[in-house]
Amino acid sequence: MPERQFITGVPGVLVQDIVRGNSLEIRGIAEIQSDTACPDCGSQRFRVKSTQERTFKHGLWGQRLVLLKIKIPKLFCKQCGRYFVYRVPGILPKKRSTEQFRQEVFHLHQGGLTQNRLSQSHAISGSTVERWYHDFVAYRVKELEGRQCPLVMGIDEHFFSRKDGYATTLVDLKNHKVFDVVLGRSEESLKAYLKRLKGRDRVQVVVMDMSETYRNIIRKYFPNAMIVADRFHGVRLLNHHFLKVWGTLDPDGRKNRGLLSLLRRHECNLKPEQVPKLQNYFDHVAGLEPLYRFKQDLMQLLLKKKQKRVEAKNLIPQLLWHLNELLESPWEPLKTLGQTLKSWLEPIVRMGRFSKNNGITEGFHTKMEMISRRAYGFKNFKNYRLRVIALCGWDGVFAIRN
Ligand SMILES: [Zn+2]
Repeated sequence: MPERQFITGVPGVLVQDIVRGNSLEIRGIAEIQSDTACPDCGSQRFRVKSTQERTFKHGLWGQRLVLLKIKIPKLFCKQCGRYFVYRVPGILPKKRSTEQFRQEVFHLHQGGLTQNRLSQSHAISGSTVERWYHDFVAYRVKELEGRQCPLVMGIDEHFFSRKDGYATTLVDLKNHKVFDVVLGRSEESLKAYLKRLKGRDRVQVVVMDMSETYRNIIRKYFPNAMIVADRFHGVRLLNHHFLKVWGTLDPDGRKNRGLLSLLRRHECNLKPEQVPKLQNYFDHVAGLEPLYRFKQDLMQLLLKKKQKRVEAKNLIPQLLWHLNELLESPWEPLKTLGQTLKSWLEPIVRMGRFSKNNGITEGFHTKMEMISRRAYGFKNFKNYRLRVIALCGWDGVFAIRN
């Protein structure tokens, strides 16, 4: 790029003068590029009929607004006899600012500058900021539309709104990106979307919590995917049922927040001074200690990750023993837990082979909640989806459109 063009960053604008006033005005002429053709017939035979001067917002120089005042030729096509205005690369038709300017506003808004601030610094209205932001995001999401499903996928539900209920999140666990969000969590509401998803059969691993609906969906629509149980969810489930039994053994102790914290904790996270406290409590409640030991044992099994094939195989008999104990237990919550774990045995064993879990998905849910809150809630799921993909789905960088 020659020096004179380098100043503006717009190809083919020959800078003639720079005028300093309230704003910095760069004046120049648009030089017709060699690949220019008539938009109607595509002919490259034309002559200049006249020139018109137009002003575009272009950026900020310090605090000052930079304007581009360009003489743009109007051309006459010798082939079809039509007139057309030469289109300067980097400025889209009918726009009064350069793409560079619009993208600057987009990035600043994405980075957290409010519409109000931007409308002061960039001399545009707040609604223009909103419109441009929306334009860019929609453009990018449209570009992403044709992409293939991720190889390692996480699936989970999250709450969207009281009117529309729950939505399903699909996460690319390998690249730590949200792949998509879809309204609904039943097969009925997801099937239209899933049917037109590209590259369903290339999905290798799907991580999910132990939900029967999602399992059926994955089996049906992702035929080659291995289902892996989510460790986070497994641990939570085990704790939940264990605490229920504790509640029947010692209802008063269950309400004590200090004890709750002790009993819920992984054994390895207990501080030295907490161990005798726990032992002391066990001495007072009959039958709790063996239950606790059993839970810790099972927990250790669930927490294993990155196991080799043989190691994972060795896990199976241990898990089965625990399952039998659960199923034969006199307590109802433990029986339920046993049944759930039994029907999910294979995904749980697989879980030990992997390190990925849906913690990433849960993290995105927190982020999505923040997005929703910052916008004071979304009424329209489409807009919500655009925002989520814009902020969690890609790194926010794309080339300037010409
Ligand atoms: Zn023509």
